[in-house]
Amino acid sequence: MRDFSSSHEWLSMNTATVRKQWQLPQIIDECARRGIRAISPWRDQVAAAGLEATQRQLKAHGMGLSGYCRGGFYPAADKAGLAAALDDNRRAIDEAKMLDAPCVVLVVGALPGALQGKPAYTDIARARNEVRDGIAASLDYAREVGMPLAIEPLHPMQAAERACVNTLEHALDLCDELDPGQTGMLGVAMDVYHCWWDPKLEQQIARAGDAKKSRLLAFHVCDWLTPTRDLLNDRGMMGDGVVELRKIRGWVEQTGFAGFAEVEIFSELDWWQRPGAEVLDTCIERHKSAV
Ligand code: ZN
Repeated sequence: MRDFSSSHEWLSMNTATVRKQWQLPQIIDECARRGIRAISPWRDQVAAAGLEATQRQLKAHGMGLSGYCRGGFYPAADKAGLAAALDDNRRAIDEAKMLDAPCVVLVVGALPGALQGKPAYTDIARARNEVRDGIAASLDYAREVGMPLAIEPLHPMQAAERACVNTLEHALDLCDELDPGQTGMLGVAMDVYHCWWDPKLEQQIARAGDAKKSRLLAFHVCDWLTPTRDLLNDRGMMGDGVVELRKIRGWVEQTGFAGFAEVEIFSELDWWQRPGAEVLDTCIERHKSAV
């Protein structure tokens, strides 16, 4: 297992972590200034900063990506909606390619309209079928351009609104079904926030690593606070909660994973309220002491 205690060379910042404090260009500069070598930006932030300008800025800093957030949201109420989702995913893949991302992270979607409080239907099995078909279609395009897709299973509390794939096992089943050749083009993004509680976590991480080309394309860290006060935006800083981060990273690295630990903290009540510099400095410190 890698020693993170004296260096943060394997720290990546998911840019949502400081999205309330800074625009993307400043996030990139502030990360570069601290020797952070990679980020995982969100599409809306890149759109606001400009795709080509972002590409140039990253290049100037020699900064890489640990992922691109995000594609997915496949289920829809009708055919036009399903087609629109595929188009949007194609654009996400193109943008990721421009930025030289290692993968597009897929938050696959769930009951269409539920996020807005108006689910168009309630058949979660139908949503799962639409997710499977959507990923299959995106994968065809992803293979053409050479951009891996990483399915991110979300905590079951998000099953209605954001993702009807809720365990690593379910995500890997989809990978096996859609990419039986284990080509490296379809895998998973394992976020400890969503997966820490899973009794099959160790087993399924090992399974991900057993593929001919590991299915483990991204590793996201933060912490689970007790009590959690908001279902979406109350993630904890590493070390402040109950996730056994080092143990889980051990399982992840046992598969041969040698990539970034990407810090992804949505925190309306705490970290989004603090100065961005304090957040980044704390991430670096906790990456060394708690990850
Ligand atoms: Zn994540």
